[in-house]
Amino acid sequence: MAPAYDLIIIGGGIMGCSTALQLARRGMRVAVLEQKEIGYGSTGHSSAIIRQHYSNELTARMALYSLRVFQNFADEVGGESGFTSTGFLALTSAQDRAGLEANVALQQSLGIQTEILAPEALRELMPGLEVSDLVAAAYEPESGYADPNLTVNAYARAARQAGAAIFTDTPVTGVRFDGDRVVGVESSRGPFDAPLVLNSAGPWGARVARMAGVEAPINPCRVQVAFFRRPAAEEKAHPVVADFINATYFRSETGNLTLVGLIDPSEADAIVNPDAFDERVDDSFIMDVGDRMVARYPAMAECGVMGGYASLYAITPDWHPIVDELLPGSGFYICSGFSGHGFKLGPAVGVMAADLLTGAADPQFDPALFRLSRYAEGKPVLGLYEYSIVG
Ligand SMILES: Cc1cc2nc3c(=O)[nH]c(=O)nc-3n(C[C@H](O)[C@H](O)[C@H](O)COP(=O)(O)OP(=O)(O)OC[C@H]3O[C@@H](n4cnc5c(N)ncnc54)[C@H](O)[C@@H]3O)c2cc1C
Repeated sequence: MAPAYDLIIIGGGIMGCSTALQLARRGMRVAVLEQKEIGYGSTGHSSAIIRQHYSNELTARMALYSLRVFQNFADEVGGESGFTSTGFLALTSAQDRAGLEANVALQQSLGIQTEILAPEALRELMPGLEVSDLVAAAYEPESGYADPNLTVNAYARAARQAGAAIFTDTPVTGVRFDGDRVVGVESSRGPFDAPLVLNSAGPWGARVARMAGVEAPINPCRVQVAFFRRPAAEEKAHPVVADFINATYFRSETGNLTLVGLIDPSEADAIVNPDAFDERVDDSFIMDVGDRMVARYPAMAECGVMGGYASLYAITPDWHPIVDELLPGSGFYICSGFSGHGFKLGPAVGVMAADLLTGAADPQFDPALFRLSRYAEGKPVLGLYEYSIVG
């Protein structure tokens, strides 16, 4: 009997749902199996910052494509993403100036609206900002942030409307093979049959790869964010700020809040069991990022502390994802390991994965850069900066 589906997608985060939408629209019979609910993993806890500032042409193009989707979400996907355009600032130290200029030149050559601003111009844009230690910054007027839960649920709904079947509360417990070919998965609802299986299990990506006997270097790492209430004089929403000098990012959040997180390579050391980790924010984290934020944004000295939470990044050795056929010729694929910066790329990743799974001769976004073998070849993806963890 022919299998019921052409493709089974493991994981209902932004990558699984975006890929499901693309392939359902191409006429494939797709089933998404999610162990809990849509957005349960990294996606639902994402800071969801949408910026174009990347060092590689591929990721910059993917970010630009995805921005256009967020800007036209009702037409492109359907429903709402909560995209809010506040502008984005990347603040670097003098030693990263050359990298900043090269990145901005690359991004401009791809059609991204971005420019270098001098400290005086920065102060005009965001008067509360401390700029005395800055030589220059990159500014993207179109960037901002979205609501990650609205976004991923809109993708899931659109995929369903396009014909995909979505099963929540359905953990996949095994990947089934007939010889070298994948034939489906085992799950809490029993077996599902399909000649293609995509592992988009995010922080659980290595665990799902291991179900097929493959080691994928993706670690589930605990990361935190904190919220601060802005004082009355600062109630207006401010641009997203990536402050590479103080190793923090912050953005406006509804309710006159500012959300703050770290840009810190040592977050890769906080490897946890993704099913059993402390989801509460640490008091020491709130104090630390609060001090860093106030150093950059002194007007926040009078802010109120509003708590926070911990969630998971899926971190690879070079902080870039793995998008590949895990076992060549098997039909078992992976699209995981987005290392803390994948949300904004989600719309483009769906296209990339769909092209890969259908063997498109001329893919819109060539996934070769994200092949698994790059680690064994000693050719990791590199950024242009000291802080290349942001891509
Ligand atoms: C605190 C935080 C802040 C972030 N900020 C940003 C940001 O500002 N901008 C940005 O671009 N990115 C950001 N990111 C990163 C971004 O959110 C992720 O890269 C992206 O959401 C990854 O999506 P995903 O679909 O790969 O993984 P996930 O959203 O984790 O989805 C994987 C899904 O697979 C499911 N699953 C796992 N195992 C199984 C199984 N055996 N069977 C069935 N289902 C399974 C999980 O339940 C989960 O829902 C942030 C992440 C966090 C945690």
